[in-house]
Amino acid sequence: MSVPAATTPAVPYLPLTRPTLDEATIAGVVEVLRSGWITSGPNVKALEGKLSEYFGGRPVRVFNSGTCTMEIALRIAGIGAGHEVITTPLSWVATSNVILEVGAKPVFVDIDPVTRNLDLALIEAAITPATRAIIPVDLAGLPVDRDRLYAIAKKHNLRVIEDAAQSMGSTWNGQRIGAFGDFVSVSFHPNKNITTIEGGCLVLNTEAEAKIAEQYRLQGVVRSGFDGMEVEVVGGKFNLTDVAARVGLGQLPRLEEFNAKRRELARAYFEAFAAKGAAALGLGLPVADFAQSNWHMFQVVLPPALKRADVMAALHAAGIGTGVHYPAIHLFAIYRRLGSKEGDCPRAEAICRSILTLPLFPTMTAADVARVVDALVTILAAAKKS
Ligand SMILES: *Cc1c(COP(=O)(O)O)cnc(C)c1O
Repeated sequence: MSVPAATTPAVPYLPLTRPTLDEATIAGVVEVLRSGWITSGPNVKALEGKLSEYFGGRPVRVFNSGTCTMEIALRIAGIGAGHEVITTPLSWVATSNVILEVGAKPVFVDIDPVTRNLDLALIEAAITPATRAIIPVDLAGLPVDRDRLYAIAKKHNLRVIEDAAQSMGSTWNGQRIGAFGDFVSVSFHPNKNITTIEGGCLVLNTEAEAKIAEQYRLQGVVRSGFDGMEVEVVGGKFNLTDVAARVGLGQLPRLEEFNAKRRELARAYFEAFAAKGAAALGLGLPVADFAQSNWHMFQVVLPPALKRADVMAALHAAGIGTGVHYPAIHLFAIYRRLGSKEGDCPRAEAICRSILTLPLFPTMTAADVARVVDALVTILAAAKKS
């Protein structure tokens, strides 16, 4: 029986992002699957060793998500009921959900509209006697000013849990994010610059903290000798599998190459948007940081009069995937029930309504970038005329 050939569209659909997994990594995963040991084991240990090297020798532990690393950091810091944690409303909701998870109260501080990160100038006014920590986010990989951040933290005796989920490979003053500072949390979700399918890591200050992190990672269990077992904290089930760790071991050596490609594509976006006069059409561009950002995402802000969903639909029809990163967290129902409302963070609210993430991933081409820019500029120009 003959099967009719599938019709191939003239241009394949360009997704928002896609992971780059090489054949050697895939073969390595198959080896792990055949090895007889597939959950946490030697590959987890090996990945932790490589990550620790990467982060300048600091203690590192891996987990099955980036989210749980922040929850665990809060627990290690002793943050819970009665405490407040300052964070940004412009992030993935995980950033503030973990604060609720440990029983503390998230306090949202508005963003700087240029960097789209926490406005550090507004932090001190939000500090109360209950404040214990700050969770900043390096949105799209653009680093928050670490000098200013840690000066504030030191002055007010606050812990910092850096949500560096998006900034693996970014730098601050020539130092890798994660190689200095307090707790640093990284995600290895498939959309991030390197992946373990699902997973994440936490960079800690001391081996003692790392030991506690291990307890929180697996039911609070501490083993000793052949048969000793004790449980002193309420831990969870957050361990990474060896299969996932093997993926990470194949990804980490390629991080710099992936990020260089992302940077090159980001540059192509700026050049193409400038050539097409996108700014005059009301398009807001990100900070053109080619020194420190890992270009996790390329995000534009649409003119406020345009309906973002319509633009996304038009781009989808043109074979281009886009995303929204993110709706303002403080306006989600659970946060409204806790007292947040419109007007609390006006700059974040305005940007969150109109921010749009364009395709950016290492195997994309300059021609793909040109196609996205052409399609978006055509939409903007048509909207301006009507
Ligand atoms: C991806 C992400 C997380 C959560 O990471 P998971 O690995 O999906 O749990 C947290 N914060 C930010 C800013 C993220 O982008």
